[in-house]
Amino acid sequence: MHYRNFKTVVYIPAAIASSMTEEKLCSDYGFLERYVGLDKVYLETHRGDIDVPEEQLLMIKRTLEDNGVAVSGGITTIIPDLEGSEPGKQRLFNTFCYTDSVMRAKAREISEAAARLFDEVILDDFYFTNCTCERCIREKGSRDWVSFRRDLMRDVSKELIVRPAKAVNPNVRMVVKYPNWRESYHFTGYLPKDQQDIFDATYIGTETRSPRYADQHLPEYLSYSLVRYIDNAWPGRNGGGWFDTYQCWSADRYLEQAYLTAFAKARELMFFQWSDLIDNYFLGGMGIQLKKIDDMLDDTGDPTGIPVYIPYGSSGENHLEMRLGMTGIPVDPTPGFPSERKTILLTESSASDPLVIDKLESFVRSGGDAFITSGFLLRTSEKLHEAGMTEAYVSGRKINVTRYQLTGDTAGYVDNMKPVIFPEILHGNNASWSLINGGDGDYHTPLFLRSTYGRGRLYILSVPDNPSDIYSIPQPVTDLIKRTLDPSLYVSGKDLSMFTYDDGSFFLYRYVKNNIRPDRVKIYTDKEVKGLQDQVTGELIDTGIENIRENWQDKKVYAAVVTMVPGVFRKFKWIR
Ligand SMILES: [Zn+2]
Repeated sequence: MHYRNFKTVVYIPAAIASSMTEEKLCSDYGFLERYVGLDKVYLETHRGDIDVPEEQLLMIKRTLEDNGVAVSGGITTIIPDLEGSEPGKQRLFNTFCYTDSVMRAKAREISEAAARLFDEVILDDFYFTNCTCERCIREKGSRDWVSFRRDLMRDVSKELIVRPAKAVNPNVRMVVKYPNWRESYHFTGYLPKDQQDIFDATYIGTETRSPRYADQHLPEYLSYSLVRYIDNAWPGRNGGGWFDTYQCWSADRYLEQAYLTAFAKARELMFFQWSDLIDNYFLGGMGIQLKKIDDMLDDTGDPTGIPVYIPYGSSGENHLEMRLGMTGIPVDPTPGFPSERKTILLTESSASDPLVIDKLESFVRSGGDAFITSGFLLRTSEKLHEAGMTEAYVSGRKINVTRYQLTGDTAGYVDNMKPVIFPEILHGNNASWSLINGGDGDYHTPLFLRSTYGRGRLYILSVPDNPSDIYSIPQPVTDLIKRTLDPSLYVSGKDLSMFTYDDGSFFLYRYVKNNIRPDRVKIYTDKEVKGLQDQVTGELIDTGIENIRENWQDKKVYAAVVTMVPGVFRKFKWIR
């Protein structure tokens, strides 16, 4: 291994494997070894119309193994129209029609062939179905597509992929990799809940590319939070995080995907794919940066964060938790209701759980602090009212906000800001209390509302219509939200994320995006501390006492100012 905290891994797709010569393989290997260090390869046996000949696979395997590189297998489940199968099926990316007997036989054959050669086989993230052919419509019957594809892919996973593979090689470890589109898994038969009992391990896509211009508009923070989600879903069984070079357009954007995947403590960093990497200047700084991250991860505990409840098969306010992560709030998405935690965050996705209000009611009643978004409120307000947890509701009207008011501070105004459209929330004044108002002219609506219930509190957090406008909310406003979420540690700054660990250390990273210049940021805690220490340089950073105005009172907090340069990560710890 080249690093202590993760393995560096490269994927070789079937087309590249087919045309590879031993000479090219050795020269490519030399490049990867020099710039990154290569621990392991996933060698693909099948993709589309290519089944790589066995002798070719064995040549690559032997050559790499001779250099000390571990080699596992890979499969991409896409296929052109096959002889004997009904033609003209409309299949996205040529994914399989799993009701077609000829294609089913081929899927089984591919799985067996890979398991014969390798003791570990990963399925790339085309292992879904969106086929709507005549036969699939017939077999679906009265079920909806989500239920039909769930049943279908459970059966396919067991009977066509895992069982046949284990029959030819009882030692084979079968790995299902999930894509970076978590919010849509259930629509195409991806089942992280059910497939846990079928596959040995999982893997996760962490490619975010250039969020503004790439097809999927995924926040950069996904490379961290999706690893955490899958770790929480399959504890101890997530093989690693997988990213690529596509639509990155800058070396920093490419590298950030690797940084965040490593910050989440993925065991393997998968570089997709072999030929895209060779002679690519993106890799120039990779080895240098991974070495630094490896040093930082030594003696670092497990990742923590504000738990966000994202049930299996849910969607709504998609990626919102990641955008909050982009403002510096450390989040930890999980598919189980985090009832054991003190503070939880629920988004519109959480409302996909039909029992969520019962769980929320008992959580808050027994002393928890729950933060719900306007999207969650909109989907559950009737049940929330019945449960007696709030009288607030989303009116359906929109408010153009240019002025913000922090109600607990006589001078807590920020005005003449860029207009941001928020949903209007109506509530009973003094039945609940608005901590932040947002408005324009002589009108405003609550943006952050507090209700009490039992021994706990329910906070309602309004989300802009365009979730990207979260980044336009002024800092004093997000600071209040951050310190309500966790007064023991929060950061005031822009274009940065904070990654927290259970040993009390935390990383800060400032993205190379909007403001490509250094910025001073302030780190706060309400716990008594002697100072803040940079864990890499050992430098002690001056920490002072500040008064924060809240609930019409001054509150003492400890604050340290640090300079964050874009593209540079730092590790800190409070000295108590
Ligand atoms: Zn079909």
